[in-house]
Amino acid sequence: MVLPLCELSYRKLMASKPKTKPAKKRIGRSRYSRDQLVEIFSRFKQQRKEPKGELDHVNAYTLLVAVVLSAQATDVGVNKATKALFAIVDTPEKMVTLGEEELIQHIRTIGLFRNKAKNVILLSKKLISEFDSQVPQNRDTLVTLPGVGRKTANVVVSMAFGQPTIAVDTHIFRLGNRVGLAPGKTTDDVEAILERVIPEEFLYHAHHWLILHGRYICKARKPDCEACIIADLCKSKEKTCDVPAPVIERGAG
Ligand code: SF4
Repeated sequence: MVLPLCELSYRKLMASKPKTKPAKKRIGRSRYSRDQLVEIFSRFKQQRKEPKGELDHVNAYTLLVAVVLSAQATDVGVNKATKALFAIVDTPEKMVTLGEEELIQHIRTIGLFRNKAKNVILLSKKLISEFDSQVPQNRDTLVTLPGVGRKTANVVVSMAFGQPTIAVDTHIFRLGNRVGLAPGKTTDDVEAILERVIPEEFLYHAHHWLILHGRYICKARKPDCEACIIADLCKSKEKTCDVPAPVIERGAG
């Protein structure tokens, strides 16, 4: 078949045209300069040199279970329920032996307990069959386990394996947007901005510093700006005070 000249030219043009790359997802920017971020995190560090998570656990496996149970529940509530549980169950094998119905009896004070019990049993079985009963150290592998999302995986790789990640929970999401540290529409956006802008020397503990700041000072309903050690630096429209509270060492919590 003989193609008309204009059709031939069009085909040549299309063949020579560079293929357009898929558009990169644009993520927002922190409202703070690097110097300001260094100052903010230096104060958090001065206040709590070695911050710790508040979920009780005895090893990487029980940490994973505790984090799965903590979705839409308080750490205090989870700790109450897991105290007796982790005294008798600290491996995937023991959890499978305990069984779903017994597990439900231990965790029935925690929201969504039926679904969580089901996931804990399924993830324990998968750990036994596919991972030699060990908790994977890789975030992408962890999210293949039942009931384990990106936030849970981030908490586990950070707390159990010392990898610097930011697990964006409700407190960090609020801080990111309210204070302008990492304005983002989704938790993934906030996570990406924070991991990019937090100076490296602070990245490992940043997750806990931000959670504790959000939980106890920059609270959801009403931020306690008078007690805030970064009140002078904060760019939030909601802040009610410009004078920073003195930095007092508080240990881990
Ligand atoms: S000054 Fe107020 S709004 Fe800003 S971080 Fe502190 S508590 Fe939150």
